[in-house]
Amino acid sequence: MKILVLNVGSSSVKYEVFEEEKSMLKGAVERIKDSKGFSDAVRKVAAVLKRRGMVVDAVGHRVVHGGSIESTSRIDSSVIKRIEKVKDLAPLHNVPELRAIRSCMELFSIPQLTVFDTAFHHTIPEKAYTYAIPPVIAKKHGIRKYGFHGTSHEYVAREACKKLRKDFSRQRMITCHLGNGCSITAIKNGKSIDTSMGLTPLEGLVMGTRCGDIDPGALLYLQRKGYSQKQLDQMLNRDSGLKGLSGISNDFRDILRSESRRAKLAIDVFLYRIVKYIGAYNAVLGGTDILVFTGGIGENNSFVMNTVKKQVKHLGIGKVIAVKTDEARMIARNICDLIHRGQE
Ligand code: ADP
Repeated sequence: MKILVLNVGSSSVKYEVFEEEKSMLKGAVERIKDSKGFSDAVRKVAAVLKRRGMVVDAVGHRVVHGGSIESTSRIDSSVIKRIEKVKDLAPLHNVPELRAIRSCMELFSIPQLTVFDTAFHHTIPEKAYTYAIPPVIAKKHGIRKYGFHGTSHEYVAREACKKLRKDFSRQRMITCHLGNGCSITAIKNGKSIDTSMGLTPLEGLVMGTRCGDIDPGALLYLQRKGYSQKQLDQMLNRDSGLKGLSGISNDFRDILRSESRRAKLAIDVFLYRIVKYIGAYNAVLGGTDILVFTGGIGENNSFVMNTVKKQVKHLGIGKVIAVKTDEARMIARNICDLIHRGQE
């Protein structure tokens, strides 16, 4: 069975075709400027497949925010409605994703399925996903922790267990996804029980350009000082994190190379936040068997892993391991599983 996996970003469409677990073809359409560009990109992907004589059996769409949708789903009008309902929570992603889904449905008359970044986290218990605000407001606006990067956290946790010959369903694990976006997840017996990102991908760790945790009072204060919603959005999502602190770049390599005091502080804040979350998740897990690092920063550079490892040594974590993430492969795997299950 051949699966086309589409990963639509804010300005790109990445595609990969898998035959079961084997990658057959991979590419990207980049620098997409407007919403029509996403439909054109999907048509380009279809043309590449046709040129290569590649016939696919299903399309898997990565969707960042699935709200309360719990698992991989076949796309129908009700799934589209539910993605639309939460599109304001991740507008940079969900809006182009919806556009790509609609174009794909016009172009391909094969099953189309969605895999949500939020789905792996649907097992987080109520006490961990509830924010302590009035429940009426939380319910009315769907305000709770959803968590993101779920496909990556699940993939690297399973891979780590495979490598270490451990049973995924019996481990206490902490997975650190450190890329441009960064998040950390506590996994107990194969299920996500807490994660650092929240209602939106802004909460938690320090990221490339996002601030992560901040006192919400600071935002109220800035609002009173005259900052608009748009300015705050720009500041928190694009001008903060490693880029904002270092004043250099959102690229971790540039910051590591710099000798400046601001770059050093950016790295210190970044590492401190990771260590703090590991301590918290170690406490809720009741100890940690495996700590996993992934994402561009986690996979390619041992500095972060080794520094954190030294700082959490007293926790007595069983194994610390770096694993390369592969979200597209995990999406293809989920889709194959779902289609096979449907055929039983
Ligand atoms: P995305 O979240 O966009 O998928 P990646 O997972 O590719 O991003 O991670 C991008 C980050 O990884 C950047 O900050 C980049 O500097 C960092 N990175 C990539 N290679 C290295 C390396 N060898 N050493 C340190 N950081 C690296």
